[in-house]
Amino acid sequence: NKVVMSGIQPTGVPHLGNYFGFVENWLRLQKTEPADTQLFLCVVDWHAITTGPLPAVELRDNVRKMVAGLVAAGVDCKRTVLFRQSAVPEHAELTWLLGCLETTARLQRMPQYKDKSLQYKKGDVPVGLLTYPILQAADVLIYRGTHVPVGDDQTQHMHIVTDLADHFNKQYKCEFFPKPLKMASALARVKSLRDPTKKMSKSDPDARSRIELSDTVQTVREKCKKALTDTESVVTFEMDRRPAVGNLVLLYAAVAGLSPDQVVKEMSSVTTGEFKLRLAECISQRFEPIRQRYEELLASPDTINAILEDGAAKARPIAKSNMDEIKRIAGFS
Ligand code: ATP
Ligand code: MG
Repeated sequence: NKVVMSGIQPTGVPHLGNYFGFVENWLRLQKTEPADTQLFLCVVDWHAITTGPLPAVELRDNVRKMVAGLVAAGVDCKRTVLFRQSAVPEHAELTWLLGCLETTARLQRMPQYKDKSLQYKKGDVPVGLLTYPILQAADVLIYRGTHVPVGDDQTQHMHIVTDLADHFNKQYKCEFFPKPLKMASALARVKSLRDPTKKMSKSDPDARSRIELSDTVQTVREKCKKALTDTESVVTFEMDRRPAVGNLVLLYAAVAGLSPDQVVKEMSSVTTGEFKLRLAECISQRFEPIRQRYEELLASPDTINAILEDGAAKARPIAKSNMDEIKRIAGFS
């Protein structure tokens, strides 16, 4: 049986990178997968503190925003088991076991670790930032996940997940974990609006670098206007020579459901400045209804709590029974 599992960090409101790299794919799976495919979508709150603890109020708020964003975007809680990671203790429990099967050298080579650890002095990097991929592996493996829809930036982490599944099976001479496959979406990496060498991220300190599902028409317009371009004013699609404009073309293409070449054709008579305004319009047209649903949901904490409780109630027994089996296999019971 197919078990689709993925996570998203409650580090802010979902943005267009999350949407096109991940959520859109999820919505497709909800529609196309047969009823016996299980869909687990986890708001990974333990992951949200890997760069240091957040104030409790902020973490709680971020979880609510994430759930509201996902549901507003179309995640269907009847089809998808949507829940909060910390509500299912077996994620953390399995992390310990898997951590003992992984090396520090490998974890230190992860691009995201290298990136995010730069902000610390040597020796001050939180342990959680290093072991983050192990927790991610546990998120998938505790449900014996077979398919993991994620963006491009998670490729390296996914290798760790598959290798750990393999490692466990070999170590304990069993076939308990299936080898999980990464599922990419059509637009697997949306770039920052301010720097085309970086991906769009919730945690980027510059809010103008991303468009969030909660952004109003006005904000979308301002952010698009300020999006980085270059000194040429025609709209072309040349990723190597003009990455900033190229990224806007890709984004427009994703939002409008066109190919990059079609976008360039459509924009052949406008300047990059005008193109950015059209991009803003196009984004608002598609995402304004989602923003309105987001606001409604956010104003109803009871709805969000009920969603999370319901999801956790479905996820817990499955995680528990798999963890019991893992313990049995490894000699802990
Ligand atoms: P953070 O900055 O806190 O790491 P994030 O924006 O990277 O936040 P995550 O919660 O880490 O978001 O990732 C959630 C999902 O969205 C993952 O599947 C990830 O691969 C995908 N994703 C994140 N950013 C992008 C992006 N810019 N383009 C495409 N997919 C993305
Ligand atoms: Mg991330």
